Amino acid sequence: MTDAPHVTDVAIVGAGPVGLFGVFECGMLRMKCHVIDVLDVAGGQCAALYPEKPIYDIPGYPVIEAAGLIEQLEAQAKPFDPVYHLGQRVETLTRQDDDRWLLETSTGTRIDARCVMIAAGVGAFGPNRPPLPGIEGYEGTSIHYMVAKREAFRGKRVVIAGGGDSALDWSIILADIADSVMVVHRRPKFRGAPDSVAKLHALADAGKVELVVPYQLAGLDGDGTQLSAVIVRTLDGDERRLEADALLPFFGLSMNLGPIAEWGLNLDRNHITIDQSTSATNVPGIYAIGDIATYPGKLKLILTGFAEAAAAAHSMFPLVHPDEVLHFEYSTTKGLPGAA
Ligand SMILES: Cc1cc2nc3c(=O)[nH]c(=O)nc-3n(C[C@H](O)[C@H](O)[C@H](O)COP(=O)(O)OP(=O)(O)OC[C@H]3O[C@@H](n4cnc5c(N)ncnc54)[C@H](O)[C@@H]3O)c2cc1C
Repeated sequence: MTDAPHVTDVAIVGAGPVGLFGVFECGMLRMKCHVIDVLDVAGGQCAALYPEKPIYDIPGYPVIEAAGLIEQLEAQAKPFDPVYHLGQRVETLTRQDDDRWLLETSTGTRIDARCVMIAAGVGAFGPNRPPLPGIEGYEGTSIHYMVAKREAFRGKRVVIAGGGDSALDWSIILADIADSVMVVHRRPKFRGAPDSVAKLHALADAGKVELVVPYQLAGLDGDGTQLSAVIVRTLDGDERRLEADALLPFFGLSMNLGPIAEWGLNLDRNHITIDQSTSATNVPGIYAIGDIATYPGKLKLILTGFAEAAAAAHSMFPLVHPDEVLHFEYSTTKGLPGAA
């Protein structure tokens, strides 16, 4: 026998910054939320891709680290007692007879909700892996696609591969921390921000990083989990062996809408089209906010997603509370209604 589904007002797909703020906005209108994310932690891109980077364009914070912003958003959502289902992907979304929605996840969790807020960012995302034999064995020990803690690289010999902003940023930051930093790129020209490119060349001139160009990753040497060297090669077959404790390949992200593409929503180049004034999709009861939502002139910023979450919550209210009239009120007037 299958367990009865969890019953809630709103199911939020994605626990990134915008989904977390969605919990708050729903809570302010007395709507309870369950939040599902395929990652093991809340925070979306902020947690998975740049936890230690400072963000400068969050209103009210002149500067805040991405991980710190997520902590604040979780704290802001907490009074409304959200239920998190982490480490599972929402696979199916089915309309039920009473116009409620049933969501089912990859681990079998079922959630019955009146409305759905899709805050799924770029969909399920993952790093582009270089095609090197045996790479899986080194992942998480000596090969990393993101830097969660820069201190983990103190005193290490680090090889960074790639020519974009992430490769440049981490080469510059780790130059002060690591024992050595070698930057492997297939072309002499880097394509990141001009300021970062200039800084990288200055560090190279000062002997603090070594630019290994034009080389490409060709192989790994080690015991299967701990790396001892990275093998690189030019297009002409010239090979070098770079002694290394860690490899950081930054070849971008593969983004995949995954099952969301099958949910009957109007899409525009892998994004869900919404009505900007309500965040409503073409399907009644389903809303989309944050990076995944699009309309003419959309700015993919965290603050844009926050406003979309507020619009969605106000628009959902009559569906969740059909017998009540929504009176717009400031938070200063109503405080935190119905907080647990
Ligand atoms: C390096 C970098 C720097 C940035 N700097 C800034 C900045 O300074 N200012 C700024 O405003 N923005 C910045 N951004 C952009 C910002 O991070 C995004 O706009 C923001 O993360 C979008 O939030 P979101 O909640 O919409 O989506 P995301 O953060 O992408 O979170 C979406 C979540 O949904 C989950 N998900 C997807 N599909 C499913 C599914 N089917 N089931 C369950 N879970 C699912 C994903 O696992 C993910 O955790 C930066 C981005 C990067 C990569």
